[in-house]
Amino acid sequence: MTLDRDALFIGGAWAKPATDAVLEVVSPHSEEVVARVPEGSTADIDAAVAAARRAFDEGPWPRMSPAERIEVVQNLSGLYAARLEEMATIISTEMGSPISFSNLAQAPAPWMQIEAFLAIAREFPWESTRPGALGADVVVRHEPVGVVAAIPPWNVPQFTVLSKVVPALLAGCTVVVKPAPETPLDCYLLAELLVEAGVPEGVVSIVAGGREVGEHLVRHPGVDKVAFTGSTAAGRKIGAICGEQLKRVSLELGGKSAAIILDDADETTAIEGLKFLGVMNSGQACVAQTRVLVSRERHDAFAAALASAIGGMKVGDPMDPATEIGPMVAQRQQERVEKYIALGQEEGAELLVGGNGRPDGLDTGWYVRPTVFAGVDNRMRIAQEEIFGPVLSVIPYVDVADAIRIANDSEYGLAGSVWTADPDAGLEVARGVRTGTYGINTYTMDFAAPFGGFKASGVGREFGPEGLAQYTEAKSVYLSAPAM
Ligand code: NAD
Repeated sequence: MTLDRDALFIGGAWAKPATDAVLEVVSPHSEEVVARVPEGSTADIDAAVAAARRAFDEGPWPRMSPAERIEVVQNLSGLYAARLEEMATIISTEMGSPISFSNLAQAPAPWMQIEAFLAIAREFPWESTRPGALGADVVVRHEPVGVVAAIPPWNVPQFTVLSKVVPALLAGCTVVVKPAPETPLDCYLLAELLVEAGVPEGVVSIVAGGREVGEHLVRHPGVDKVAFTGSTAAGRKIGAICGEQLKRVSLELGGKSAAIILDDADETTAIEGLKFLGVMNSGQACVAQTRVLVSRERHDAFAAALASAIGGMKVGDPMDPATEIGPMVAQRQQERVEKYIALGQEEGAELLVGGNGRPDGLDTGWYVRPTVFAGVDNRMRIAQEEIFGPVLSVIPYVDVADAIRIANDSEYGLAGSVWTADPDAGLEVARGVRTGTYGINTYTMDFAAPFGGFKASGVGREFGPEGLAQYTEAKSVYLSAPAM
């Protein structure tokens, strides 16, 4: 089956692109072109925003009741659930995620988001009346924010598209999605499902392209809100543009999360947890727990056990169900990871496993060796900067207060975890770490609760009622006091 396409999804219909430019999707495993699709241009973005603007200003979608919109999104949920395997395969094909991870998270997690947002939307206070402070009641309405620009990264493409499109739709917004150039394919399947679900004309457009096209969309005067997930560098730029134009903006950015191993933690449980959480999605995960904080007493033994576990993971073809770590998304990402591995050695960290050079038998494909450094000083660049590959740093601490200090000594504040036999001690650590999400003996995103970053990890929240509220404007309608 060919994955090639020749149309763009503009205004809810398949449209001829404005130019002949093509995006080649290259397999990170075989380095061969697996699909060719139109590359969106600024003219395509203009057409998409015009359609979204019309659908918002004049169309039925924002004027439907929340219950009517919930029904359409409920249709989408059923259709999405029926195509999970196909979605997982497409994502692994375009960006190299191990198929086990795509089947576990890349495809089902977006569907779980739809279900969670549906439950939230059913309870959401779209319009409520409250007693005012002046003796009369006030009607408080949550109205749609308008035309939304949704810009996702390539690493968890559907996850970061649906976290924006679903709450936007439920709130009554219209949306222009600009997928990353590495991962345009999964959104073609999404577009089909949106049409089948009965989303009206003009409400959603999808135009894949690079950062110039993305920036054109961000600056577009027809856009009311920008919802972005990606690097902190791009987030700063987008935040600055939106600040200048007074556009609503939410930013989900990078991370350098710390897993704190307390002295009473069970080693097997913690290592099993880190085998997944440290290097999930081949280490290309914003919430990856890439700094592992261990007391000085336990450091050497724990680091050795972690290195043995990570070094033993199966690296290879993302389509092999046994694969635990796949290739990096692109050659530039492979080079970036290798640069950091070399830097760690230059900085004096102890390389326990991995290092530069290709994993055995993997000369083709953008593979790197899963790597663990020990004796890392938190001031080293490998401990401060987001590497976005399977590279872990074990950092010794003196006592729990020191561990919390080290965890917080980061420009980021996205996620983290603590591993302990005492859940109360774990909660106390969680209270001290300045990140938007935290796990005790686990780290799992729960879509009923807000997710997002402190500090340079972002602005705003996705998921939970807080995530839905980001697609609304609050309006207060003051009623006159009843005559006495
Ligand atoms: P990136 O910032 O390079 O690109 C992200 C998206 O923004 C892409 O679609 C890109 O084309 C577009 N873009 C880039 N510059 C732009 C600009 N100036 N204006 C408009 N659009 C622009 O990031 P990436 O390499 O694709 O993704 C990896 C990054 O995403 C990592 O830093 C990771 O931590 C972060 N991430 C964060 C979360 C989260 O929820 N916090 C989730 C996943 C990924």
